[in-house]
Amino acid sequence: MRRKLVIGNWKMNGSCAGNSALLAGIIAGLGKVGADCAVCAPAPFLAQCRAELTGTPVAWGGQDVSPKQNGAYTGEVAGCMLAEFGCRYVLVGHSERRAYHLESNELVAQKALAALASGLTPVVCVGETEAQRDAGQGVAVVTAQLGAVLAVLGADDVANIVVSYEPVWAIGTGKTATPQQAQDVHKILRAQLAQKNAEAAAGVQILYGGSMKPENAKELMAMPDIDGGLIGGAALKAVDFLAIIHAAE
Ligand code: PEP
Repeated sequence: MRRKLVIGNWKMNGSCAGNSALLAGIIAGLGKVGADCAVCAPAPFLAQCRAELTGTPVAWGGQDVSPKQNGAYTGEVAGCMLAEFGCRYVLVGHSERRAYHLESNELVAQKALAALASGLTPVVCVGETEAQRDAGQGVAVVTAQLGAVLAVLGADDVANIVVSYEPVWAIGTGKTATPQQAQDVHKILRAQLAQKNAEAAAGVQILYGGSMKPENAKELMAMPDIDGGLIGGAALKAVDFLAIIHAAE
């Protein structure tokens, strides 16, 4: 049985004081939690996450990682740096990185490799745009995105990744895939993982992201291949984030 995983993606939001209040609220309301949970914070706040989350059930992670280990890459953050600040996870290939920073499937694959090399769990984000979905290309797009990552991973690496299906048309829009729509894609993604490593694929946490909220989280996570959520907007309010974590238990 896979444990559920709920990750908050803070995107480019937060301040030292605001983060402290948010994290304190999450920790206070968590109780004995039966699911994995984490927040992915902007890089400058990772030291704060380490200071305020160490010893709690909440893990933390970055939102992006360089494919390089070190060197003359101004503005980039290396996997070893994230690891040094205690990160467990790092998002790779979030649709906002793909759209605004023109990240290709191949670059995302290199980022996943770099994360693994630093002992981090890459959360490999895949998802189709509304236009791609309307053109009947949704499955081809997401399987090409995941396929590029699987092409560079060793079979043993499959056990060490998380996948997040995030239809771009559902991110920050209030539109959500129906549980069945999401499940159909998750099942395809798990079958694709199984082609690389059948045993590991059965244990990979495949998250859904895209306007997941307290009101729809339980229904989505009740589907057999939906193992949790990657949460944007609702992760910025302790009460909403907590409700989603508790819906995952
Ligand atoms: C996201 O950014 O990964 C996301 C799912 O955002 P939202 O929950 O706001 O749609």
